[in-house]
Amino acid sequence: MNYDVIVVGSGAAALTAAVTAADSGNKVLVIESTDQFGGSTAMSGGGAWIPNNHLMLAAGVHDTPELARTYMDQVIADVGPASSSQRRDAFVENAPKMARYLEALGFEWSYQTGYSDYHPEEPGGNAIGRSIEGKM
Ligand SMILES: Cc1cc2nc3c(=O)[nH]c(=O)nc-3n(C[C@H](O)[C@H](O)[C@H](O)COP(=O)(O)OP(=O)(O)OC[C@H]3O[C@@H](n4cnc5c(N)ncnc54)[C@H](O)[C@@H]3O)c2cc1C
Repeated sequence: MNYDVIVVGSGAAALTAAVTAADSGNKVLVIESTDQFGGSTAMSGGGAWIPNNHLMLAAGVHDTPELARTYMDQVIADVGPASSSQRRDAFVENAPKMARYLEALGFEWSYQTGYSDYHPEEPGGNAIGRSIEGKM
């Protein structure tokens, strides 16, 4: 069989990649090494830290890309390429787009209001929270 994109694994990262590729018109295969799909993601609390996301903004909670970036620079040490300046910029710019994109495809989010940033007292921190999760 032929595929345009083969995605290895079936956690949140993999399935988001698979959905995005399929939505772009590609024929996609997801392969999973265990007998269940979902990976660590399926075991997790499911919270996604998405600064400046549209749900928090709709709830009247103030945020900007600059505040989010300030917070990240405060709480993430210099860990090298895993969290380079370019990756932080890419995350802050694209994470809220990802949330809107999946919602437009039918994914239902809910805003975890009150689930504070872990260090809200740091510059850029948000005490009401920037986390969203998928509805059950
Ligand atoms: C109890 C618990 C609670 C957590 N709560 C949170 C939370 O609330 N918020 C948060 O942000 N993070 C949380 N985490 C961490 C979070 O779950 C992970 O960081 C995240 O799910 C990783 O997603 P992923 O898509 O990168 O990988 P995974 O979800 O781990 O998916 C990887 C998949 O790849 C498969 N795979 C691996 N190798 C191969 C191979 N060679 N061939 C085919 N398939 C393969 C695996 O079987 C797995 O299905 C939690 C973790 C745990 C365990």
